[in-house]
Amino acid sequence: MSVAEIAPPAPKLPTLKVVKDATCTFCGCVCDDIDISVDVEQNKIVEAKRACILGKAWFFNHHIDDRPEATIDGRPVGYDEAIEAAAEVLLNARYPVTYGLSDTTSEAQRVAVAITDWIGGTVDTTTSVCHGPSGMAFQGVGEVTCTLGEIRNRADVLLFWGGNPAESHPRHFTKYSLMPKGEFVPNGRKDRYAVLIDVRRTKSAKAVDQFLQIKPRSDFELAWSLRLLAKGIDPDPSIEAKTGISLDTLRALMERMKAAKFGAILFGMGVTMTRGKHMNSTAVLALARDMNRHTRWVAKPMRGHGNVTGADNVVTWSTGYPFGVNLGRGYPRFNPGEFTTSDLLARGEADAALIIASDPMSNFSQPARDHLQSIPVVVLDPKLSDTARIAKVAFTTATYGINTPGTVYRMDDVPIPLRPAFESPYKSDYEILKGIERRIRERQLASGPSTGMP
Ligand code: SF4
Repeated sequence: MSVAEIAPPAPKLPTLKVVKDATCTFCGCVCDDIDISVDVEQNKIVEAKRACILGKAWFFNHHIDDRPEATIDGRPVGYDEAIEAAAEVLLNARYPVTYGLSDTTSEAQRVAVAITDWIGGTVDTTTSVCHGPSGMAFQGVGEVTCTLGEIRNRADVLLFWGGNPAESHPRHFTKYSLMPKGEFVPNGRKDRYAVLIDVRRTKSAKAVDQFLQIKPRSDFELAWSLRLLAKGIDPDPSIEAKTGISLDTLRALMERMKAAKFGAILFGMGVTMTRGKHMNSTAVLALARDMNRHTRWVAKPMRGHGNVTGADNVVTWSTGYPFGVNLGRGYPRFNPGEFTTSDLLARGEADAALIIASDPMSNFSQPARDHLQSIPVVVLDPKLSDTARIAKVAFTTATYGINTPGTVYRMDDVPIPLRPAFESPYKSDYEILKGIERRIRERQLASGPSTGMP
């Protein structure tokens, strides 16, 4: 008996395709240095070099569900029939709302704004439930800004405020802010002084030099006190009881901030979604502005979803406002509270919804969800989300970044190209939205004069 006859067959090794410098779109860091290996027979990502734990989960858990291209009232249909039905829903509506957009490409976002304009609806993004207050503050006081590359190369004092990057943006510390060696901070972590301001001691507190645990709902007062100190004015001593931070500590912090060569405030939803909301963001942005009388300071929001910054950019360059924009009168009107989706649904106002890459049925208030369930909804989502389950028309889509190319914006407003790993049998958001827009325009042109002006 020969050796070949008794030896077990060698296990078949998977055929791997490597995509270098792929972009992770799981969080607003949008790391574009991930080398991914794809098992081409299984269409499965088996390696994601340099991705953090969240990025690895994003890549490894990606699989293509065996679902119909689309459904109408739960009945499987092809894309063409669903596009016709979606156009019908949106054209018949008197007050349609377009919502989501933070987990899709900027190319798709742009078409979604155009559709909303053609049908005279309201366009809103998930910014309205995260950094919307910062968007309002930018409109009020502006933003002293920079790229994450500048923070990496220059920042020697960092103020993390109301966020927990160690768990929400794991590579922010190592790639952009706290740890890396930069041109003007050649010793990396040793050249930087980092402070965390938060209401609770999170994992990020271990990584910084100083943790200031402030009392809940006192962010505005703390930021305003620092503004006073920046101008050489002592705050009222009652600030100690209000914030839980002593005046001596605040004075010492201000001295350190003034001594910085380049300081950066990186603020999260602990600032924007607590009492004060847009006034908190205003105070933090104004503090960064005031500090420029002494030295260079910037303030940047820490953005969550992969392309929520793109949504802000696209809606702003299209309408002049970042979210919650009504186009019903043929010109843009911005009014958070009136034109933000969770509010207008809770008041029972919208009569149709176009939801793109978002799941409001899993996180909106009960009155908003009740109303959403009572109106015709068009959903584009790679997954069978709770919102897709109640949709009149639900499209199955390819996953952006993993299956489709396009552009996303990093949290510092830098556009980054996507390098997809493999193709999906499903269409992209962009292709489906383009189809819906085309049908809407054909039907509008066939029935009379234009009503929109994208
Ligand atoms: S930090 Fe964010 S973008 Fe970077 S790899 Fe992790 S999850 Fe992905």
